[in-house]
Amino acid sequence: MSTFLFDELIFGPIFSRRLGQSLGINLLPIDYKFCNFNCIYCECGWTGKNNKITLPTKELFYKMLEEKLLVLKNNDKIVNTITFAGNGEPTIHPKFDEIIEQTIILRNKYFPDSKIAVLSNATMINKQKIIDALQKIELPILKLDSAFDKTIKLMNEPKENLTVNKIVENLNKFNGNFVLQTMFLKGLYDKQTIDNSTETEITAWLEIVKQVKPKLVMLYTIARNTPAENLEKISLSKLKAIADKVNKLGFKTQVSG
Ligand code: SF4
Repeated sequence: MSTFLFDELIFGPIFSRRLGQSLGINLLPIDYKFCNFNCIYCECGWTGKNNKITLPTKELFYKMLEEKLLVLKNNDKIVNTITFAGNGEPTIHPKFDEIIEQTIILRNKYFPDSKIAVLSNATMINKQKIIDALQKIELPILKLDSAFDKTIKLMNEPKENLTVNKIVENLNKFNGNFVLQTMFLKGLYDKQTIDNSTETEITAWLEIVKQVKPKLVMLYTIARNTPAENLEKISLSKLKAIADKVNKLGFKTQVSG
């Protein structure tokens, strides 16, 4: 199915139900998806094998972000969130921590009321400098799609050997100051049935929610074309039923169906 790449370093603002008027930042190449996951549902398509890629420098990023924020401010535009997402995993950028510092400076100068969000697959939070950078922003949104290694392997195809135990250990370093994000879907992939919304999946996943204590849990499902065929959305009513269980544990939720 046809997926798409963000063709700019800075794009938008575009309206997002979760983040309001969101100015997008793509720290990855504009013509190539670069990630250490290969999620079967990734709207940017399959992850390529080329490791020799060029990433934008922090100097170029600073210049472009300042120019963009200035134009938006001069035109009385609204920016609710500055969101790092784009064509892959933003925290892979070797200067990610410095880029976050720069973004905070520019945000404070031009749109002091806006929030900074990073959509991350949580693979780099074994590094203290990434944790420190993510702790400086309002919305570190960290992915965990299942409590089972087998499901993670199937849904996310991590490049390195990654275990749920390791991710949970790293999430605990945030002391609850993060947003947990989980994609729910079902279907068939690689001749295997996949459904991370079953009773067994949800029971185990709720145990992790209790352990890592996120300040918010975002539950969502497929909204655009996916690289893998034969995947299906989870119904809004089922997402809400899962969210109810999270709420009963005392955690806030946000559902996008
Ligand atoms: S972590 Fe995000 S960018 Fe990377 S493959 Fe998964 S959905 Fe795509």
